[in-house]
Amino acid sequence: MTDEPADTDEPADADEADRRLPAAPTDLGPVRDALVAWYEDDHRDYPWRRTEDPYAILVSEVMSQQTQLDRVVPAWEAFLDRWPTAAELAAADRADVVAFWSSHSLGYNNRAKYLHEAANQVETEYGGEFPRTPEELQELMGVGPYTANAVASFAFNEGDAVVDTNVKRVLHRAFAEIHNTDEPSDETFAELANALMPPGKSRVWNNAIMELGGVACGKTPRCDEASCPWREWCHAYETGDFTAPDVPAQPSFEGSRRQFRGRVVRILGDNEEVPLDNLGHRVRVDYAPDGDHGREWLRGLLSDLQDDGLVDVDERDGETVARLRR
Ligand code: SF4
Repeated sequence: MTDEPADTDEPADADEADRRLPAAPTDLGPVRDALVAWYEDDHRDYPWRRTEDPYAILVSEVMSQQTQLDRVVPAWEAFLDRWPTAAELAAADRADVVAFWSSHSLGYNNRAKYLHEAANQVETEYGGEFPRTPEELQELMGVGPYTANAVASFAFNEGDAVVDTNVKRVLHRAFAEIHNTDEPSDETFAELANALMPPGKSRVWNNAIMELGGVACGKTPRCDEASCPWREWCHAYETGDFTAPDVPAQPSFEGSRRQFRGRVVRILGDNEEVPLDNLGHRVRVDYAPDGDHGREWLRGLLSDLQDDGLVDVDERDGETVARLRR
C-alpha cells in the first residue's frame, strides 16, 4: 500500500477496456469473476475493509504508509475512538494528534500534522463533506495520488485501478506481453490495470488485486498454496519464470520447483498414469523433450517426488510413465 501509482482515466465501458488491453486474455469476464470470487470467498479481515467512511479509510491509508498492517489495526482503532470524525479531529489540538502518532510509532510525525490539516480542510473548504474523486481528494493536505485513489475506491467506489508494487508484480507475472516488455512504464501498468478492472467496481477490484499481490503473488509466489484464481491464465505459472520488477532474479529455484512439483502431482491425481512427454507438455508450455526444460529436467522432478514417496515411475515398452503412488 505504499507505492506511488500513476493516475489514469477509468475505461468508459467494457468494450473500450478490451480494446485498450495490451496483454490479457480476450475474454475478460472469467478473469475478473475468478479474482473477485476468490477475494470474496476469503480475505484478510482488516477493520477498515468493513467501513465506507472516507475519514476512517483516509486514516488507515495514512497510517499504512509506514507501518505494517497488523500493527496499524490497534492504532487505527485507538485513533478513531479518540477522534471518531473529521470534525472532531479538526477541532483537536494539533499537538495531541502528533503526540498520539509518536506514541504509537506510526512513522513521520508530519503525517499527523497533514491529517489534522486535511480534516480542517474537509470542515472549512468542503462543508464537512469529503470530496469523492481522486482529483478532488488530492487537494487535501498530504494526500498524494495513491492515497486519493484508495479513498475514492474504498469509500466511494469511484477510483481508478490501484497500481502499487504488489499490483505491478501480479500484472508482470500474469500477462505475457508486459512480462516480455523491457522495463514497462508506469503508464503501461496503469493502462493494463485499468483495462482489467470491471467498470464501476473499483472498491472490490482494488481490494481483490491487492490481496492477490499480498497473500498469493508475493516475492516468493504461493500460487497453489493460496489457490490463486489466475493460474489458468498466468504466464509465470505456465513458464516458471516468476521474475517481476521488484523480483529481478528468480525468487528461488526451490520456489519455482515447488510449483512444478505441485503441478505434476495435480496432473497425476487426475489420471491413472501419464507418459513422460505428455506430462512435460502439460506441466510447462516451454517443455521440449531435449531442451533445457525437457526430459532430463522432468525426470529430476519425478525423482524428487519418488524420494518423497509420492510418485512411481516405470519403464514400459520403451516408454516412461508416471503415476501417483497408491
Ligand atoms: S499463478 Fe502465481 S504467479 Fe501467477 S498471478 Fe497467481 S500467484 Fe502470481
